[in-house]
Order: sequence, then structure tokens, then C-alpha cells
Amino acid sequence: MSTETIEFQAEARQLLQLMIHSIYSNKDVFLRELISNSSDALDKLRLASYQDKDLDVDVSDLHIAVETDPEARTLTVRDNGIGMSRDDVVGLIGTIARSGSAEMLAQLRAAKENGGSSEEASAELIGQFGVGFYSSFMVAERVEMVTRRAGEAAGVHWESAGEGTYDVADAPDAPQGTTITLHLKAVDAEDGLHDYADEHVVKRIVKRYSDFITWPIRMGSESEPVNSRKALWSRPQSDVTPEEYTEFYRHVSHDWQEPLETIRLSAEGTFEYQALLFLPSHAPMDLFMRDSRRGVQLYVKRVFIMDDCEALVPEYLRFVKGVVDAADLSLNVSREILQQDRQIQLIRKRLVKKVLSTVRAMLDTDAEKYATFWSELGRAVKEGLISDGDNRQAILEICSFPTTHDAEQPTTLRDYVSRMPEGQDAIYYMTGDSRVALEGSPHMEAFRAKGYEVLLLTDPVDEVWVEMVPEFDGKPLTSIAKGDVDLGGDDLDDETKQGFEALLAWLGTTLEDEVKEVRLSHRLTTSAACLVGDPGDLTPTLEKMYRAMGQEPPTVKRILELNPASPLVTGLARAQAERPDDDELRGVARLLHGMALLAEGGELAEPAAFAAALSAQLEKSLA
Ligand code: ADP
Repeated sequence: MSTETIEFQAEARQLLQLMIHSIYSNKDVFLRELISNSSDALDKLRLASYQDKDLDVDVSDLHIAVETDPEARTLTVRDNGIGMSRDDVVGLIGTIARSGSAEMLAQLRAAKENGGSSEEASAELIGQFGVGFYSSFMVAERVEMVTRRAGEAAGVHWESAGEGTYDVADAPDAPQGTTITLHLKAVDAEDGLHDYADEHVVKRIVKRYSDFITWPIRMGSESEPVNSRKALWSRPQSDVTPEEYTEFYRHVSHDWQEPLETIRLSAEGTFEYQALLFLPSHAPMDLFMRDSRRGVQLYVKRVFIMDDCEALVPEYLRFVKGVVDAADLSLNVSREILQQDRQIQLIRKRLVKKVLSTVRAMLDTDAEKYATFWSELGRAVKEGLISDGDNRQAILEICSFPTTHDAEQPTTLRDYVSRMPEGQDAIYYMTGDSRVALEGSPHMEAFRAKGYEVLLLTDPVDEVWVEMVPEFDGKPLTSIAKGDVDLGGDDLDDETKQGFEALLAWLGTTLEDEVKEVRLSHRLTTSAACLVGDPGDLTPTLEKMYRAMGQEPPTVKRILELNPASPLVTGLARAQAERPDDDELRGVARLLHGMALLAEGGELAEPAAFAAALSAQLEKSLA
């Protein structure tokens, strides 16, 4: 039997180091992780045997066995499930393919470099990421695994001390499934290391963390399983304790934290199903990655069918975890068929409504919980405003946005509307890169003067949904940087207006490459000028987003608005009337345009030319 020594992938090696030296205080959880993997392996084997009648496997007594050996100081977790091939072992155990792992390691490195709280930070991150099988190395100095993939004749023996490499060898006589043997570290209560070679200790942990596992978990000589085995979602709600829900959540989500909210729903009659869903208390690491996992587990009458069933959950609710157990589906159903299945579509519809109404209830009854939900997951939920027209209203009701009304607390649209003073007939917002840039933008001036609240929308997704949501509660959603704004201030008399006509015409020609129109503004109180778009025009932030994606945005010329009360504007009007052909005034016009761009946080097309023109003016003023 030849043994091959293989190196762990770099990321895997780093995670292992973390586990070995982990200060994660609750070391007991490694057992939950191993049993969770075994349970999955049994689910997969049962399904495979349904789907392939010729598969040469024994499904007569699928179970998990946990054995302790105080003498040898080992703990063994055994299942007769799907097992792994040699390639599986190398690919699944030797590497970490889960999206988000690279980011997690980057965060860990950053935490380390910042010193101090690095250990706490790493424990926290491990808790968020969950690292399954590797958590064995919190309690074992060496881990052995013998496994045989269902349908294959021979198995593999895997062994590692977690220090950079592992050994793989053939295991010709391996039984069906997977046996994992932990060679335990010394007991160290202070370090959270209990005596995992003691059957009583282990039994208590199994009961505590894995009671809901539907496969029998057997220990020692007892024939009765240690766990009660009832599917949590089929038990009456009042029977299930919060701790049980939490452990089940951890089992299905691979998250080590507690769920933020548990949701149950069911339907009886012709089309029966039960669902047990969870909202996480933090954003999953891969929430904004392209290949992020989505969907809940699908069961048919307690039989596991698939993980990550996308057909049941829309993309904007991809953080929802849990189980849907449907009574009337074929066990052979494929992902493709599911997308078309009417019953699945009906469940999905109800599930979405239930999640949205749960968040709504949270908003009404538990502001703090809602705030956590929104700050962690709101960015994903807002995508639903774009993709889920049917539920747009319900989604709008649970959104909250940063606002000029409060520097810290975001506001719901409902609360915004309730604060609208008499005379204000629209919900005002502005999109942009940052709160600071938006608050300092000239567009804000008249609204501030008037005491009108403005929503400050700084997520990239905001740029898109605002174009698709015309109103809330009968009030139009209006960008303060677009269209003509008239807040009913003092109207200029015709004579004053006429006085600016020549200036506007001259500026229109001088800046014709930059702007499509020059007009007098109603929205400025202090600044001399600002740039505004027409409704539907690309915003500067969207332009930047295009460029960031490597695309050249369509050129949008905006409108230059001038403040008729600004000395700079009146001065320019006078100077232009006196010296219509003065080249220097054209330079001033460009400066005015550049200033308007800068003030809203925009980017100059030719920063060097702007700086040169500014410098020339400064020199003149000092001369
Ligand atoms: P996770 O379970 O979070 O995906 P793990 O590191 O615990 O991560 O396991 C990685 C993969 O190894 C699993 O997804 C599974 O495919 C495989 N695996 C682990 N334990 C077993 C087992 N007992 N039987 C079969 N496959 C297993």
C-alpha cells in the first residue's frame, strides 16, 4: 500500500493553522460539524439509491456511530453514507473551495496586522465562516479518515496532523461510508477541551447539538439511538426550544452564530408542505459574490432531495436558510424541472411573502432586531425593488435609508412621509458616492433652507431601483439633482430674468461641449452653480460605475444651473456684457462649470486644465 504525501492548498493550510491554535472557546462544536457532515452523507446516499436502482449500496441500516476509547484517547465518528473517492478527498478536504474563504483570510490577515484584538477577531470570523471538518483540529492532534465512495470497490485512508500536509493511501477493505478517528489532544478545561474520550461527555454533546438529526446516532453498546430524530419542522412549534432551532440553523447554514429570526410556515390540503426558515444575524461572506450560494434545502416527505434549491428563493433573498418539505413531489425531480413546477412556484410565492411580512413585523415590534437585519442584509433586499415587481410595495415598506433628518438612524419611507411638512408633495432623494459628498452638494441648499428632508442613497443598487419606483404612498420619489425644482421661493421678476439672458446664451455656446443647457436655478442659496440632469439621465455615480466595469458610458450632457443671487454670477453677467469677446471670461466660465462638478463630488474631465485656469485666476487676484 503506497502512501502519498500531499500539501494542503495554501488557504486550507492557513485555516487549519487557525483551527489548531484556535481560541474559539466552544470546542465542543467540532462534534456537531462531524455529525452534520455524516448526516448529509446519509441523505445523499439515500437519494442516490432512489435515483439509481443499480447502485451497489446497502441502505438497510443507515446510521451514524460515535465511539470513544479512553485508553487510546480516540473518538470515532462513523457513517455508512455516500463516502468519498480519492479525488473527493483531495478536492473536498485538501482544499477550500467555498466562496468567501479568500476574503475571510484577507480579513484575518488585516485583523492580525492591527494586533490587539486579533484573537477575538479570528474567533469571531471562524464563527461566521464555520469550517466544518477542520474544526476537528481544535481538539485532535491527528485525524484519521477511512472512506469509500458509494459504488466504488476500494476506499482511501487519509491522515493528517494539520501541519501543512496529509497522507493518502489505498484502503482496500474500507467499509461503505466514512469513518473519522480523532487522536485527541490532552484534556484542558481552561482551554475548553473536555474529555472527548469519555462517553458521557460525548453523549451530552451529541444530545445537545445533534438531537434533531433524523438518522440514528448510536453510541457504545446501546441499541437505542442517542438522538430523538424528529424532523424539527414537523414538530408542533410550541414543542421546539430556541436552542433546538439554533442548532438546526447551524446544521443547515454552516454558520456558527445564532439566527436572527426563525420562520415557520405550512399548508395543508391538496398541496401540502412545511417550511422552517431562518434569517441570519449577519451577512454571509459571499452575499455579493457572483457564485454565492442560494436557496433552501428541499425535502420530500422527510427525504432530503437537494441543497441550495434556487427555485424556492428569489435572488434578493439569497441569505434565507432552512428547509422546505413538500409532500407531493417526485423524489427524482431535477433542478431544471423544479424551476417550472407550479407547486414549487406557489411555495416560493408564499415563502417570499412570509419573509417580507416577518421583517415587517420585526420593524413594527423590535426596532433593534430590524436595524440589525437591515444593516446586514438590506443591500441585498433592495435588489428586490428591481427584480420583484409583484412585491415592490411590500419591499418598500421594509426598506430604510440614510437621511438628512438624522445623522445616525436611517428612516423608513413611512416615517419620512409622516414628517413631510405642509406644502411638500414629493419624497426627495439624492444618489451619490458617500453621505459626506451628498450632504455637501449644492443641490441640497434650497432643501436645507426649506427644511425638507432628503434621503441620501449611497449604495450602487440605489442608482438602479430609484429609476423603477415612481412613488410611495402616492408621493412621487424625486431626485433633487434632476429636473426642474421649484420649492416656491421668491420668483424673479421678468426684468431680472432678462438681465441674465445674454449671459445664459453666451455660456450655452462657450460650454456647449460640456452642458446641454444653461438656466437660472431655484435650488441654490449659496453656491454659484450646480449641474442637474433630466429625469432618466445617467447620474455621475452611474457613469463611474460604468467605467469601473470597463465600459464607456453614453455621454450625458447635463444642465448648468446658475444662482441669480450669487455675486459670482451677477459679476460674470456684468463682465460679459462689458467685454463680450474677452477670452479670459471663457476661462472663468470653465472654472464655474468645474466648480459645480467638484462640489457635487464629481470628477473633472481635464483636472490639469482646471488647475491651470484656477492658478491663473489666483495669480491675477494676488497681483
Ligand atoms: P462543509 O461541510 O461546510 O461543506 P467540510 O469541510 O465539513 O465543509 O466538508 C467538506 C466536504 O467534504 C463536504 O461538503 C462533503 O462533500 C465532504 N464530506 C465531509 N464529511 C463527509 C462524510 N462524512 N461523508 C461524505 N462526505 C463528507
